[in-house]
Amino acid sequence: MKNILVITTGGTIAMKYDPVKDAFVPAKSGKELLNSVPGINMFAQLKLVEFSNIDSSEMTPEMMFRLTQTINQHLVRDEVDGIIVTHGTDTLEETAYIIDLLVDSEKPIVLTAAMRGFDELGTDVPTNLLAAVKAASSDSCRNLGTLVVKNDEIHAAREVIKTYTSNVATLESPGYGPLGIIDPDHVIIFRKSIIRETIVAKRIEPNVALYKMSAGNDGSSIDYGLKNNIKGFVIEGLGRGNLPTKAAEKVLRAINLGLPVVLTSRCFKGRVLGLYGGTGGGKKLHDAGIIYGGDLSGPKARIKLMCALGKTSDMLEIKKMFEGGMYG
Ligand code: GLU
Repeated sequence: MKNILVITTGGTIAMKYDPVKDAFVPAKSGKELLNSVPGINMFAQLKLVEFSNIDSSEMTPEMMFRLTQTINQHLVRDEVDGIIVTHGTDTLEETAYIIDLLVDSEKPIVLTAAMRGFDELGTDVPTNLLAAVKAASSDSCRNLGTLVVKNDEIHAAREVIKTYTSNVATLESPGYGPLGIIDPDHVIIFRKSIIRETIVAKRIEPNVALYKMSAGNDGSSIDYGLKNNIKGFVIEGLGRGNLPTKAAEKVLRAINLGLPVVLTSRCFKGRVLGLYGGTGGGKKLHDAGIIYGGDLSGPKARIKLMCALGKTSDMLEIKKMFEGGMYG
């Protein structure tokens, strides 16, 4: 039997309904969580580390970074064959991606979550926890980077996003699909994500902003960020990566001040590319020094910029981390 370490962070998977508050609140300890899935110990020897017990809307980049350090400390131990992290779905895609970028290991690292508390009718807690144990103990899940297992699907950390506020099938990889599935008798991998990368960083720079564009946006929030000493930002542009003129002017100002600015799209499929030469067009922005964020979502590009700035302040190196491969 494999030895799997379960690191609990909170989320609905560890929540209970509180009738006084008429809301779900963090309640279950890690031990209670594992005990609530009968027979789970038949699939692996499970050890527990209780990292936090929070709604994942309270997860911060600093906590995510500490989590990567905890994972690294345990993964170097021979007696640990794989890691499971339980997490809320709200920010799971960011935590999964920072682990994917900063932890370089052949051993399976699997994040899982639930959309319905254990006390709720049709809870998805036991199914997801059991599926995560199967994935983390499977040799098929080695060397695949950080994985997200939910609803019997296995997703790549770089690709997965929360797509639905309420449905249990909320975690999807738009444009890609899952890497594989968990069946009762087998963990099946269909494909590998070959554009995965790691960043060797001893710290992260948490002071990185994310701005989402909409029609007529004047970029005043960028000005606010610059006044508040942000160290870089990601701009979730329109379509291929275009901005309204006034917002583009603020972006150009930031680039001239020497800040790294990464361009992504508010579309959730496809990569950004400078095809349009208007005042806020992606072509003009890129010629001026904006960095293409490829097909990364805004939140994931922000996580990557935090890691990149934790490693270096060299703009060319940062540009290579984002554009190397996909634009090379
Ligand atoms: N607010 C919850 C959280 O992210 C969302 C549901 C879930 O846990 O998956 O912690």
